Amino acid sequence: MSTFAELGISSEIISALSDLGFQEPTPIQAQAIPLILKEHADIVSLAQTGTGKTAAFGLPLIQLTDPNSRATQGLVLCPTRELCMQVAKDLESFAKYLNGIRILAVYGGASIEQQVRELRKGAQIIVATPGRLRDMIRRGMADVSSVRYAVFDEADEMLNMGFQEELNAILAGTPKEKNTLLFSATMSKEVADIASRYMSKPVEITVGDRNAGSENVSHEYYVVRHRDRYHALKRILDNSPDIYSIIFCRTRMDTQEIADKLIQDGYKADSLHGDLTQSQRDLVMRKFHSRNLQILVATDVAARGLDVSDLTHVINYSLPDDIASYTHRSGRTGRAGRTGISVALVDTKEVYRIRQVEHRLKKQFTKGSIPSGEEICRRQLGSLINRLSQIEISHDQIDPLYSEVAQQLEHLDREQLVKKIISLEFNRFLEYYKNAPDLNQTVSTRDREQRGSRPERERKPFATKDFGGKNFARFHLNVGRRDGLLPEYLVGRINEVPGGGRIKVGKIEIMRNTATLEGDSRFISQILDTFQQAKVNGKPVGIRLINDSERPIRKTERPDDRKKFKRLREQHR
Ligand code: ADP
Ligand code: MG
Repeated sequence: MSTFAELGISSEIISALSDLGFQEPTPIQAQAIPLILKEHADIVSLAQTGTGKTAAFGLPLIQLTDPNSRATQGLVLCPTRELCMQVAKDLESFAKYLNGIRILAVYGGASIEQQVRELRKGAQIIVATPGRLRDMIRRGMADVSSVRYAVFDEADEMLNMGFQEELNAILAGTPKEKNTLLFSATMSKEVADIASRYMSKPVEITVGDRNAGSENVSHEYYVVRHRDRYHALKRILDNSPDIYSIIFCRTRMDTQEIADKLIQDGYKADSLHGDLTQSQRDLVMRKFHSRNLQILVATDVAARGLDVSDLTHVINYSLPDDIASYTHRSGRTGRAGRTGISVALVDTKEVYRIRQVEHRLKKQFTKGSIPSGEEICRRQLGSLINRLSQIEISHDQIDPLYSEVAQQLEHLDREQLVKKIISLEFNRFLEYYKNAPDLNQTVSTRDREQRGSRPERERKPFATKDFGGKNFARFHLNVGRRDGLLPEYLVGRINEVPGGGRIKVGKIEIMRNTATLEGDSRFISQILDTFQQAKVNGKPVGIRLINDSERPIRKTERPDDRKKFKRLREQHR
């Protein structure tokens, strides 16, 4: 066991660490810090979430920063805005006792002018999302020509999000003789490519099994009919009154829908996904951190890397497409020495995927049974009684009111009073679970599981349609003719996406207040991103993916001249 001092960390930084309660380095920190500080090695580091990667690169990065130069010396690239803000905040707290070190977060979805103003004051370390930083470099607003350290945080996720070209462009402007530090939870082919392309003789550090889930997490799955999924979710939530959980959905639409239903049904829940504005996302995260929310419904990307350390449950409302994402999701719980439960809701056709995850994680799942209405009512009653008997009475405030209250409730005896108090809190469960059916699907598909056969058709995660051999996704925009929206603008904006020349555009329909757009379904996130940051005549554009079954076109709103659009599209191909 080593100490931070033995690893070569300076006393100012160690003081900041002890304020944070970091007493000794985590294994990844113990390995990475001396390599970066003393050996100036390039590093590829594979470690699961929660292993302390931020400090593993952050501490040496800060220590190696020259406060007397205002030039940008360190660059940290992260996949999402939230992660970017979190890493910047962490670095600031490490640098608390050092003077003259400025750390700046630069990310999309917020005012670029504001960030540029901050950047002009000088920032030795920039923590950025690739899209925004590339934009700023291209416009001459950021200068990376003096960078000595480049860090890829959550590199696998950045590549999954299609940031390859932005990363290339950013790194092209940095000096050759710099150190590159790559952190990733998984080693994919793309990550290996980056390592071989941008790094010289990188030292590989692996902590734990590359694909293992956290030791403190137990995995459960529940088999329910597809149409019962939401009700099953509610029962799981109701059966754990003190739940503090992230529920993962695959698409932004599902995320919003589940969150809306939960809110309507009285849960302290909200959603986190890419369609929210920056301030909406900040607000949601603040409420979740402060426990004003118990449940956060999120997409994988939105929740990536968020540091919420004491989740009781992670719920897979739908399983992710790949096993690495399952590891990530479940790694959000069972952190900081606590235990956690990772729950997956599956239908009978998906049970084989549980077996696949078990195989890869080398972990057994327990098959759970969706609790009956009666079980849940008992559990809720127990929790209510607990809270009732433990609640502190603030005598100062209650006592003066008591005589009046007592008078008004005089006609009730003790038994009636207790029953009424319980009913007050409890009726919603009694009502809801009266005659509640058994939701457990008895899997009579044993042989299917054992054969491990795949379901006939994989469900497509997005609304896509095959159009002349091209897969198009349809988007709805909340701007239209009245806002001065022109098809040229839509096509132009898509062409501006890095590599946008490859993004096929299908049918465009512009109505009075709204528009629909078909775009290449391989680039859904890029299309959403580019419009999320767009304004049409000053009005921020709202965009979302839509189902084929959704028909936003009303009879009274005939699409404009289709032939003209067709010509235009041809020109832009
Ligand atoms: P990762 O990036 O690997 O997912 P983080 O860097 O976000 O992990 O760290 C996870 C949590 O562990 C954070 O809350 C962080 O403050 C805490 N942490 C990191 N290093 C230490 C340490 N040496 N001692 C105590 N806590 C630590
Ligand atoms: Mg991290």
